[in-house]
Amino acid sequence: MKIGLVERLPGKSNDVGKDQMGGYGINTQVGNSIFARILTITKKRKRRIPFLILGYLTSILQNNGHEVIIINGNEPQEVDLIIIPTTIVDCKNELKFAKRIKKERKKTKIGLIGPFAGVKPDYYEGCYDFIVSGEPENVFFSITDKKIPEGYIVSKPVKDLDSLPFPDWDKFQVNKFSYKPILTKKPMLPILTSRGCVYKCDYCAYPVYYKTYRKRSPENVISEIKYIKKKYNAKSSIFRDPLFTCDRKRAKKIAELIIKEQLNNDFEWACETRLDLIDEKTIDFFYEAGLRGFNVGIESIEPEILKNADRIPINIAHQNKMIEYCHKKGINIAAFYVLGLEKDTEESIKKTISYAKKLNTLVAQFHINTPLPGTPLFEKLKNDIYEKDWEKFTFFNPVFKHKNLSNKKLLELKEKAWVSYYFRFKYFIKHYKTILS
Ligand code: SF4
Repeated sequence: MKIGLVERLPGKSNDVGKDQMGGYGINTQVGNSIFARILTITKKRKRRIPFLILGYLTSILQNNGHEVIIINGNEPQEVDLIIIPTTIVDCKNELKFAKRIKKERKKTKIGLIGPFAGVKPDYYEGCYDFIVSGEPENVFFSITDKKIPEGYIVSKPVKDLDSLPFPDWDKFQVNKFSYKPILTKKPMLPILTSRGCVYKCDYCAYPVYYKTYRKRSPENVISEIKYIKKKYNAKSSIFRDPLFTCDRKRAKKIAELIIKEQLNNDFEWACETRLDLIDEKTIDFFYEAGLRGFNVGIESIEPEILKNADRIPINIAHQNKMIEYCHKKGINIAAFYVLGLEKDTEESIKKTISYAKKLNTLVAQFHINTPLPGTPLFEKLKNDIYEKDWEKFTFFNPVFKHKNLSNKKLLELKEKAWVSYYFRFKYFIKHYKTILS
């Protein structure tokens, strides 16, 4: 069979990060002032992370004898099946494309994957042949021209992650992928060493999509690093695990093998961690293994506000110490903040913004608390969610009635957070070399 995988929709598509926020996507919109617009454009241009799942599906389908083409903004040639990864932030364009294909190409089947179609299949009514809810690999292993799935299928999570083939990036524009400014070396390719998370922060989509926490063996991860270095000359990798350090012993073993096999020569990597899962010794060891960037969720300075979101707060002194230590070592930090958590007030948000400036990390992302369908937060707030347009669930728009903050205030605080953070003398002095490189 000839199968088209949609990396970028033909025609109109929102300029969004689709393979972020657990696959729901993100649409950066800092605000309307000139400074806010500059930040929006810069943010959108810096990073280009490929859809990891498309690399996996390419491998699986080709191994099963199918011909795979990647649809990257071009009008697709005749194919038997088109697979569209669905997101919340570009759902209208995805729906429009699926409808058009259904109308114009009667013989072409359409399959939808991704969390949004999984939780909101009705949105796509009449314009798909099948929807896969959950990790799609298990369904794609058995697709043949005589056995194309139909309807709504719940796909079981992959039990043995080591059994998956490595993603095939041959048909992708590898040189365009980037994880700047956290990782500066290119080509950059993503690796997923584990799926799911043992924590249950109520706003997070990862535990919802991946269900249980599963991990690959360190040896299998090392083989993939060797593979991307040899085949694609990769010089860096972002480990896309929701939380790479969930199992610290395994994370250290991976670092140990990277050093042992000398894979850290001309190769750097970054990963997501909670700051209470690392210490100076771990940082030193990871650094030796090539770690040059951490993504960390700070979310809010107020422990009680975090607890209310089912997030376990981290000791502030330890948090400060770890960030300071990383800075000393030359490890870039991307810190994430959530504004408008349920118990937030104008005062608590201002405190969080001041704290972010004190930490002064290379990247600081201020998102508006967004109840994604399928998450516990969505269930909790469903009577307060007034936004009917799914594409407004961008992480930059208020979508529910907040008890302590008006929409106007929240938008104002978000814009202020971004602009006052980045257009700051202390920020420029600390990071100008990296941002100008
Ligand atoms: S620790 Fe991170 S990945 Fe895990 S549930 Fe919380 S926000 Fe999500």
